[in-house]
Amino acid sequence: MPREKILVIEDEHDIRELISYNLESEGYDIIKAATGTEGVELARKKLPDLVLLDIMLPDIDGLEVCRKLKRDDSTKDIPIIMLTAKSEDSDVISGLELGAEDYITKPFSPRVLVARLRAVLRRNTDSHDSDTALIQVHEILIDIKKHEVTSSGQVINLSATEFAILSHLASNPGWVFSRNQIIDAVRGQNYPVTERSVDVQILGIRKKLGSQGRYIETVRGVGYRLKSE
Ligand code: CA
Repeated sequence: MPREKILVIEDEHDIRELISYNLESEGYDIIKAATGTEGVELARKKLPDLVLLDIMLPDIDGLEVCRKLKRDDSTKDIPIIMLTAKSEDSDVISGLELGAEDYITKPFSPRVLVARLRAVLRRNTDSHDSDTALIQVHEILIDIKKHEVTSSGQVINLSATEFAILSHLASNPGWVFSRNQIIDAVRGQNYPVTERSVDVQILGIRKKLGSQGRYIETVRGVGYRLKSE
């Protein structure tokens, strides 16, 4: 198997080198870019397997880079992990809505970085050949075709909207979804869902799932996820 190529777009020299060093020692090929413009060019030219993208860049910012890559047919399927500072929640939300796969908050340990990167690369491979009708997370079992959910073996009665939200969260366990992404996922259901009512729906799902409800996690300032570990 050829080595996977990772494009690191980060203006801070020390962080860029630290990331590159750690990923190289894990066996990845590293391409480095110090500006957003350079990053977009290199992504188009080298078609990496994954992009690590700093949000705060000197020329065009990371969100703009994300937008450009996700709009371009040749680069739109390349997963993006954003690197953000703690105070950039709204950027995280915008980035996820633009199609970024995940984010890591600075400062991060090399181990966390490698683990997240592996998880995203794996998910990306899985999603190409999955037409999964059955999803299991912890003791929650979702039968997409039958529209049936069991929690610890008990059949749970969910509304159509609740079912759509839960299956969306469960389609990518561990991923954080913003309220707007959840709304998009359930669009076309009978009831129009607003940002506020997403919270209400989530409360309802948690309650109905009983002890398994605790795995639906609120990610403060960002959205929700179904915890996978
Ligand atoms: Ca930066």
